[in-house]
Amino acid sequence: MSHKTLTPKADPMGAAIHDFYHTGKAARLRVLSSQFDEDEIPVETLFREFAQMPPLEQKALLLSQGRILDVGAGSGCHSKALQEMGREVVAIDISPLSVEVMRQRGIDAHEVNLYDENWCETFDTILLLMNGSGIIGKLQRSKAFFDRLRTLLRPGGSVLMDSSDLSFLYGEEDDDSSTPTMPPHHPDDTSEYYGEVDFMMKYKNIRGERFDWLYIDFQTLKIHAETYGWKAELVEQGGHYDYLARLTPCDEVMKTC
Ligand code: SAH
Repeated sequence: MSHKTLTPKADPMGAAIHDFYHTGKAARLRVLSSQFDEDEIPVETLFREFAQMPPLEQKALLLSQGRILDVGAGSGCHSKALQEMGREVVAIDISPLSVEVMRQRGIDAHEVNLYDENWCETFDTILLLMNGSGIIGKLQRSKAFFDRLRTLLRPGGSVLMDSSDLSFLYGEEDDDSSTPTMPPHHPDDTSEYYGEVDFMMKYKNIRGERFDWLYIDFQTLKIHAETYGWKAELVEQGGHYDYLARLTPCDEVMKTC
């Protein structure tokens, strides 16, 4: 797994965020994938304010306490909203252009990869939002993800992460029930998991590298969390197979790096 950050020349989302922040507009931020048709992220939505955020994100912000870490913070929309609520927040992102914009917005932002163990800080709340589970990349990397979070979390702290169950993409056309149609995936199962996708972003002539992004159903998250010594609670379900989870370690021993 890469522990690096991006170079400005291969930072399409950062370039879009930078343009939008400085000029009030941006070109198309294109999202390509080997599994899906080409899509687009409306850049202005990356600058959403509290009132414009989906209820699950609002809930996560309201539950955040103490010293907060916003992981993969992007434009810093959640960090900014938390600051306005009087909370103490630190943001990290691998995108140098996003970090530059966040600093200009008055956010304590750092160009750091979540998996870089040289970065030693501790927090009471760790936020991973906008399909925050994406940062896990692939299901088989969930142990590395939980182990890393463990070193960043203070005793009594918790992780708030949103994700979606992609099984609705593979269900029957006429099945309008909201229950997922796929069984959960277990850590000893080596077959491919339906929530593992790959993406690549393009902005103007800037092309990012291909990356893995994980969507995880709650039951699979819970099983993996328990396997690696964590508890997963379903805080709230969203309107479209999405949910907010709270993750807490089972032991309270401080494991600093
Ligand atoms: N949380 C923001 C942005 C979500 S997009 C929002 O809700 O608007 C995901 C962000 O995660 C991007 O800015 C990307 O650069 C960052 N990211 C991806 N992998 C990362 C990693 N390993 N460590 C830190 N940030 C990462």
